[in-house]
Order: sequence, then C-alpha cells, then structure tokens
Amino acid sequence: MCLPVAGSLPASKTHKAGRRWALLPSADATSPSLGTLTIVQSKRDTVSYGVAVEGGQVLFCKLSDGEVYGVTLDRSGRPVCCTCDGFHFVKRCKHLDTVKELIADGVL
Ligand SMILES: [Zn+2]
Repeated sequence: MCLPVAGSLPASKTHKAGRRWALLPSADATSPSLGTLTIVQSKRDTVSYGVAVEGGQVLFCKLSDGEVYGVTLDRSGRPVCCTCDGFHFVKRCKHLDTVKELIADGVL
C-alpha cells in the first residue's frame, strides 16, 4: 500500500497560513528514496522533491533542477540544520519545518 500522506506546516514570516506538505511514498520498497515530497507555501511556490534518508541526513532532491538540500539530524533524531540558502540566512527553512512535521507524524 502506498497511500499519500499529507499535513500542514507552521506559518513562517513570509507565508502566514496555508503551508502544507504531501508525500507520495515510493512504490519500490528496495529504493532508497522515501518517495516524492511536495511542499506547498502558496499557489506559486510549490516545489516537489525526491526524499531519502542517508547518513543522519534527510536529503531533498528538487525534481525541477536536481538541486539537493540536506537536513542534518542530531543524535536524538531532531533536525538541526539545512544546507539551503534560506536556512543559512534566517536559521529556519521549509525543509527543516517539513522534516519536523514528518517526524511528528511518524513518517520518518
Ligand atoms: Zn532548507
């Protein structure tokens, strides 16, 4: 069974409400990829990633251009930092927020 799972994200400075995510799990159980994750911040800001967990990191591979962002987990499995520019500047980002929600929802 590969039912999509979805949830909401807390508001950010730029996106006050309606942020959400959806994960379509990979149909191939042998694939290292968890599936396809879409993060919606607004109608115009909807980005899909291939997601995999590897070496204490949750990797987000942007499907549109292949760019990869890595969210690092600490020893207790909490997300602590991300390699994207957004995190670099404001110390939080949608990848980190999404990983938090995925863990809270038992997806990761
Ligand atoms: Zn990020």
